[in-house]
Amino acid sequence: MPAYRSPEDLSGQVVVITGSTSGIGLALATAVAARGGDVVLNGLGDAAEIEKTRAALEAEHGVRVRYHAANMLNGAEIADMVAYAEAELGRLDVLVNNAGIQHVEAIENFPIEKWDQIIAINLSSAFHAIRAAVPLMKAQGRGRIINIASAHGLVASPFKSAYVAAKHGVIGLTKTVALELARDNITCNAICPGFVHTPIVDKQIEDQARVNNMPREQVMQDIILAKQPSKEFITVEQLVGAFLYLASDAGAGTNGAALTVDGGWTAQ
Ligand code: NAD
Repeated sequence: MPAYRSPEDLSGQVVVITGSTSGIGLALATAVAARGGDVVLNGLGDAAEIEKTRAALEAEHGVRVRYHAANMLNGAEIADMVAYAEAELGRLDVLVNNAGIQHVEAIENFPIEKWDQIIAINLSSAFHAIRAAVPLMKAQGRGRIINIASAHGLVASPFKSAYVAAKHGVIGLTKTVALELARDNITCNAICPGFVHTPIVDKQIEDQARVNNMPREQVMQDIILAKQPSKEFITVEQLVGAFLYLASDAGAGTNGAALTVDGGWTAQ
C-alpha cells in the first residue's frame, strides 16, 4: 500500500494547472509549490512576467516549476502540454482544468465567436486534457482530476449563456469521467466557486459599473454579491482548501462531485 497522502503533503507529486498565470490558477500553483509539489504552469500573458513568476515559485519553494504555453483553444497543444509534464517532470499526479473566460451579453446579441471560444476554453479544453492525462494516471495507478467549474455549473444567471452552458457541461464531463475511472484509483471532481475577486470578476465589475452608471462598491454589493448569501467574496484560500482535500487521500472517497465553495449561493 502506498503511504497515505495528507492534504498538506504534495511532495514528489506533479500537478498540471491550466490557466495558472493569474487568479485562482496561480493561487493553486503557489499552494502546490508551498507543499512540495512540482508544477506545470499554463496560461496567457506577458512572457517575461510568466518567467518571473515561474522562477520565483521555484526559488522560493525549492520545487520544479515549468511553463507550457498551450492555448486552450487547441486540442493538439493541450495534449502536448500533458505529454510535456511527463517528459519534463517524470509523471502526472494531479490535473487541474482551470482556464476560463467570460462574456456577458443578451442571447440574441451574443457574438458567435465568443460562444465558440467559451465552449472551447471552458469546456472542451478539459476534455482534451483529461483524454491525454488518463493513460498516464492509469499507468501510475493513481490520479486526481479537478475541474474548476462554477456555481454557474449548477444554476444560471441571465446574459451568461455560453459560460453557464460550458460550466454545466464541465459538471457532466466530471461525472462521466468519475464513473469511467472509479475502479482505477483516479477521482474526477469539480469545484464550484461563487464569486472570487480575480481579474475575470474585476472586468465584470467595471462593465457593470459603466452600464449601470454605479460606483464599483455598489456594483459589488448590489449586483455581483447579490446572489451570494455571505455577501463576501470567496477567497482563494478557501478554494485551496477544497483543492487540497480533493488532491489528497482524504478526498479518495469523493468522486464525481460538484463541490460548492459559494458562500451558500446554490443553497437558495
Ligand atoms: P483569471 O482571468 O484570473 O484567470 C484565467 C486564466 O485562464 C488565466 O491564466 C488566463 O491566461 C487563462 N486563459 C484564458 N484563456 C486561455 C487560453 N485560450 N489558453 C490558455 N489559458 C487561457 O480568472 P479566474 O477567476 O482565476 O478564473 C479561473 C477559473 O475559475 C475559470 O475557469 C473561471 O470560470 C472559474 N471561476 C471563477 C470565478 C470567479 O469569481 N473568479 C467563479 C467561479 C469560477
